[in-house]
Amino acid sequence: MTRTKEIKLLLAEPRGFCAGVRRAINIVENALQKYGPPIYVRHEIVHNKHVIEELKNKGAVFVEGIEEIPESSVVILSAHGVGLDVIKQAKEKHLTIIDATCPLVEKVHRQIQKYAAQNFEIIVIGKSSHPEIIGTLGQIPDYKRIHVINSIQEAEKIQISANVPVGFVTQTTLSVDDTQEIINVLKTRFPEIEGLQTKDICYATTNRQNAIKKIAPLSDCVFVLGSKNSSNSKQLRDVALKNNAPQAYLIDDVTEIDWNTLDTCHTFGISAGASAPEYLVEELIDEFKSRYHKINIQDVIIAKENINFRL
Ligand code: SF4
Repeated sequence: MTRTKEIKLLLAEPRGFCAGVRRAINIVENALQKYGPPIYVRHEIVHNKHVIEELKNKGAVFVEGIEEIPESSVVILSAHGVGLDVIKQAKEKHLTIIDATCPLVEKVHRQIQKYAAQNFEIIVIGKSSHPEIIGTLGQIPDYKRIHVINSIQEAEKIQISANVPVGFVTQTTLSVDDTQEIINVLKTRFPEIEGLQTKDICYATTNRQNAIKKIAPLSDCVFVLGSKNSSNSKQLRDVALKNNAPQAYLIDDVTEIDWNTLDTCHTFGISAGASAPEYLVEELIDEFKSRYHKINIQDVIIAKENINFRL
């Protein structure tokens, strides 16, 4: 039933696909055209249910381990990156390897290898079970002077050998503000520590979080399109809540909304994680249009992105 009250939609921009995700999806589509199905993809190419379903329908086969792939097949490595052991295993099976690791993740890989080559004590900020961190650690598999932390408390407690240079790297999809707080603790404890500024880690993470910060305090409810296993999408929902959105939901698509709980809301914020396609946002807006009589739609733009990564 169409509701008569007027509502406002605030559309965060930038939102949705980043350059790394666009590149990874293009790589799978191009490989399907060039080699024909099946094309094996190790791990979800990007963490989004709808993207995965579409690629499966086109002939991509998603696996978690190289051992699941027949000898001499084509394998694509996901945007999150992999450790050296995975490449070795793929070569031993004579697979044609296509690497869709995001160039910004590769930059982290190079950084950690550089620190290891110079005998640094290395601090990795991120979630140890996330594929990106597993891939980052896998660049220097036998290196011992390495610590993974994910909180201020861990940064306060970490024990580092004396008189050794210290460097940090971070997962690309963390909360920019939380990560900055962890880095601040590390900088206080180890003033000479080396590492990138948070804003330089990933432009897409920074921009999407800044945009949702802008709409969160103006909204009665925020929707973030994205899958539950998408780190950057989850962060967007959490950033919205931390920035005074009374309610914020991470939804795969419009079908997950319980409209009965939204009667008191007048202003809705909308964003999408870096792995969520724009058509999901359009479907959500269409659903609002079908349910509400009057809708005022505003774009809240904090940056224009024109970054593309070469295939
Ligand atoms: S979120 Fe950033 S690091 Fe991750 S794929 Fe996109 S551009 Fe690359």
